[in-house]
Amino acid sequence: MTAPQSSSMPESSSGLSDRYDPSLLEEQWQRKWEQEALYQTQDPRPDQKAFYALSMFPYPSGSLHMGHVRNYVITDVIARAQRMRGDAVLHPMGWDAFGLPAENAAIERNVDPGVWTDRNIDQMRSQLGRLGLSIDWSREQATCHEDYYRWTQWLFLELHSAGLAYQKEATVNWDPIDQTVLANEQVDSEGRSWRSGALVEQKNLTQWFLKITQYADALLEDLDQLQGWPERVRTMQANWIGRSIGAEIDFQVEGHNDATITVFTTRADTLFGVSYVVLAPEHPLVDALTTADQKESVEAFRDLVSDLSNDERTADDRPKRGVATGAEAVNPANGQKVPIWVADYVLAGYGTGAVMGVPAHDERDFRFAKTYELPVQRVIQMDGTDEHSNDGEAWTGPGTLVNSGAFDGQSNDQAKQAITEHGATKGWARAKRQYRLRDWLISRQRYWGCPIPIIHCADCGAQPVPTDQLPVALPKDVNLAGKGGSPLAALDDWVNVPCPICGKPARRETDTMDTFMCSSWYFLRFADPQNSDRPFESEAVKKWLPVQQYVGGIEHAILHLLYSRFFTKALKDRGLISINEPFERLLTQGMVQGVTYRNPRTGRYVAPALVVDPGTPRDPDDGEELEVLFEKMSKSKHNGVDPALVIDRYGADTARMFILFKAPPEKDLEWDDADVEGQFRFLQRLWRLVDSVSKMTAPDQLLSNDVSGIPAELSESETEIRRAVHLAIQAVSDDLSGEFQFNTAISELMKLSNSLSGAVLDASRPVQVEAMGALIRLLAPFAPHLAEEFWFRLGGQGSVHLQTWPQHDPAALVQDTVDLVIQIKGKVRGTIQVPAECDKDTLEALALASDVAKRWLEGKPPRRVIVVPGKLVNLVPS
Ligand SMILES: [Zn+2]
Repeated sequence: MTAPQSSSMPESSSGLSDRYDPSLLEEQWQRKWEQEALYQTQDPRPDQKAFYALSMFPYPSGSLHMGHVRNYVITDVIARAQRMRGDAVLHPMGWDAFGLPAENAAIERNVDPGVWTDRNIDQMRSQLGRLGLSIDWSREQATCHEDYYRWTQWLFLELHSAGLAYQKEATVNWDPIDQTVLANEQVDSEGRSWRSGALVEQKNLTQWFLKITQYADALLEDLDQLQGWPERVRTMQANWIGRSIGAEIDFQVEGHNDATITVFTTRADTLFGVSYVVLAPEHPLVDALTTADQKESVEAFRDLVSDLSNDERTADDRPKRGVATGAEAVNPANGQKVPIWVADYVLAGYGTGAVMGVPAHDERDFRFAKTYELPVQRVIQMDGTDEHSNDGEAWTGPGTLVNSGAFDGQSNDQAKQAITEHGATKGWARAKRQYRLRDWLISRQRYWGCPIPIIHCADCGAQPVPTDQLPVALPKDVNLAGKGGSPLAALDDWVNVPCPICGKPARRETDTMDTFMCSSWYFLRFADPQNSDRPFESEAVKKWLPVQQYVGGIEHAILHLLYSRFFTKALKDRGLISINEPFERLLTQGMVQGVTYRNPRTGRYVAPALVVDPGTPRDPDDGEELEVLFEKMSKSKHNGVDPALVIDRYGADTARMFILFKAPPEKDLEWDDADVEGQFRFLQRLWRLVDSVSKMTAPDQLLSNDVSGIPAELSESETEIRRAVHLAIQAVSDDLSGEFQFNTAISELMKLSNSLSGAVLDASRPVQVEAMGALIRLLAPFAPHLAEEFWFRLGGQGSVHLQTWPQHDPAALVQDTVDLVIQIKGKVRGTIQVPAECDKDTLEALALASDVAKRWLEGKPPRRVIVVPGKLVNLVPS
């Protein structure tokens, strides 16, 4: 970027205004950055590192909220700092633009979902523009536009031809409010829809699935590579995948020669302690096995259980219930007959739908056995004890096998394998891995999504739409009011097409894709955004990915982040990309909470404007005292703060500074008007400091002066200034590396501004230049408009955002200096000033860099160097 010409300069910058007025200043710099395409991505030069900084892209609801602001400002600070550190930075933005809100808004307001969405995108883009984010908008993507979703369809077909996309009839989660199915990941622990909050029902439907389970091991094991992710997120993913390593064991049913019950267990070592076997009430063998006198109670029990959700059935804090079938199973290890029960805590859809009960060594089984008076058979003895009683509880720890025939005396770890292997030779056991993860259900019976590019032919089956016919465009003018089933199914013209194989009449697939499909690859598209032949070139992806820093909400710990990792691995196996993981480092920013007034009796939230007597806040309706809380900002709690109003009042730089200063990025942040005001005052103080410097010295030219280094002789106050400057450089640089601590970085800036106020005016020009240059560059990622204004006012060349990040000088951090004698072959030839506490290597380096050494060694390395710390360095030329 060339130096700004005075003719094109923002108006407020040409005069010497005494007052900090962000309103004009910010808009003018934003316009200038845009004109000069300052944040346009430049391909990395050979000597340059590529740095991809990405925020999770938003759903275009139409209004930016504080949670967005926090997310994007964090990413922006990181992107700006890396740019100044010399990296080629990719910092794009896009829109996760398919989904139900647009469809519902369309139904309510009778507008086209596409028109509604595009209008929201325009609105949000301009709201984002006011934050001064260094985004390269030339790479913008919207998942609902044909030039994007055509490639979502193309990628679906890639997965389809890899056998990773398939149809099956399954019991699925049905959201009765949104009238569509949901993936398991989209149902919360209370059995409610992640979006509508409705209690989810179970339905049998033929649906499309992605075989994410094929990658279960890779998704689990590669979590170890993600050391830049929060531990919490990795744990959540590992738990969701839920791999357990164990064995399947077959129990024959007494009196039923053809019936085998297969259980899965991670505790084959306790097989001799089985005192009952449990089937899920839905298990296909239940009807055949139940004896005549137990039929009635088993039927009644099934009815009871059918009203419970899976989570209720398996919740730890709920007593487990069951009923005997009257049948018996034969323990294959010792031939013992044990009763067969049905119980609510065994789920048909998990594992084999059957488990073995070992009350002596499992807490749940122990409680179940006590409730129903089933026997408790001890088979593991706690090490270091002679006996172990099961009076009070189950022993689930390690130990030695007892009452286990030939396996007695083995450690229980050994016995797991030994018993499984023994069973394998006899044909009744198999080593087995089991997962909690299920295949990803991607069918949605809604309009505003990416159509699944499949044509169903009675003769040829489900056939892919040929790729040269992509995209399968969403038809316009669709009647969205109908509930139940996809609105696309009603469009005969659209649905009826010839089969791409045989040409006979066939029907299009009318399901659309889960929007999480669209967001599972957008980060790849940003690397190659205008490609019209392919979704992306592998080379372009390799140039920028993995994303070095991804920033977004913890609510995506499983859904989006797991799906994206799966996509990346599947596309790598298809040879489309060469990376194995999409996101190298992940920062999950905390929530923004607003002050919230709630009536504790009625539970009603009261808008702050309506609260009577803010000192002891009262409900305007009944005068009751209200509780004052901090909760996540939301419309229903009337506790939101509109970013636009904050920017109107204080400017974007203050909003940014406050949000970064108020709490560490991962922690929740409590909105506080007084603290916003505090940041505004800090920026005003900076304004006065820069203003006074620009007036005292030759105006406007300070930073453009060629300063030939810091003089050797500094006054005490100059030494202090330099020390403050370089301490701040060191601290802020640390805070912007790896573990981001923007809050302490801003504290450091405040400390530095205090140290410089007044003092810097008395300093010599080189010290002034260094101090002001460092302060403004350190400020630039945080308050980009103001830093740009300061840089310009003090005569800096080009944009501050293209300057090099300052490096701290270790020598300047040391408070005391001493004179170091430089000898050449034992003769004193000069002295230099060095920090008092310097190690030998540093002293040697300083001596070799001195003018004396340059003159006497004539550029050749010395034959020998003798260092006497604190006194002298003797150089012996070769
Ligand atoms: Zn056909």
